[in-house]
Amino acid sequence: MIDLHTHTNESDGTFSPRELIEAAQSIGLKALAITDHDTLTGYDLAVPHATRADIELVCGVELSIHCRGRSIHLLVYFLRNQPTDDFRQWLLSLQAGRRRRNEALVGKLCSQGMPMTLEEVAARGGKLLARPHFAAVMIEKGYAASRREAFDKYLDESGSCYVPREEPEFEEAIGRIRAAHGIAVLPHPSRIGWSGEQIEPMLGAMCKAGLKGIEVYHSDHSPAEMDFYLHLARKFGITATGGSDFHGATKPGIELATGKEGNLKLPYSILEELRKLP
Ligand code: AMP
Ligand code: ZN
Ligand code: FE
Ligand code: FE
Repeated sequence: MIDLHTHTNESDGTFSPRELIEAAQSIGLKALAITDHDTLTGYDLAVPHATRADIELVCGVELSIHCRGRSIHLLVYFLRNQPTDDFRQWLLSLQAGRRRRNEALVGKLCSQGMPMTLEEVAARGGKLLARPHFAAVMIEKGYAASRREAFDKYLDESGSCYVPREEPEFEEAIGRIRAAHGIAVLPHPSRIGWSGEQIEPMLGAMCKAGLKGIEVYHSDHSPAEMDFYLHLARKFGITATGGSDFHGATKPGIELATGKEGNLKLPYSILEELRKLP
């Protein structure tokens, strides 16, 4: 079994890189990709632990990008080479944009009667703060009863405190990924909210720009969705990938590798398929 989509506490997961490798080892994973939001630090820190545990560690990152009016995620894998210095520098600039968004988000929450400081949010996370860390503070202070409520009312795109991030356009992102010899994969397509008529033209355009895979197998996908995205992967000639999107306690109910209620069992051949890409 493998898992190609996981987060550590270097972004909004709760397992340290070392704990994640230990968890992977304890369930006998052959390969694991660490795909933190906008940072490679979790991967970098996990490398020596993976070597010791004899787990094939895949370098990855999950970017937030802007695509035709929507904020979407894009997974990047580095299978043959390490990310270039240029690519790492670019990630640092994305992290700076996230920090500016976080400062504005604290301001907006305070102005809407939910006082908090960035330090309080930082205490829930590490170096990179994401909206789930804000949700945790909101729940603790009694501003929201649950993470769901925090997102629905305040943090989501339709929420009253939503602050858009300066996100790179899809075309820029894919250009930088290709220049760094990375592999771009569209994660959790079900979450994008494309309509039935939109999905094929959108995916077609992405493939033309250089998208190499689509995350067919994901914790949030029903069997019917997996079938549907597998059909699209075949239609567009891209690789069907998969991963749990494990976040530890940030997303209870999602287990490493096996997903939600055991809905995932990803064979090593998925990674082999990705490695075969030109
Ligand atoms: P950020 O990168 O700071 O924009 O936060 C992204 C994180 O928030 C990801 O882990 C998402 O899974 C999580 N997230 C986004 N929307 C929601 C939502 N509606 N409910 C729960 N978590 C969400
Ligand atoms: Zn996340
Ligand atoms: Fe994501
Ligand atoms: Fe993710």
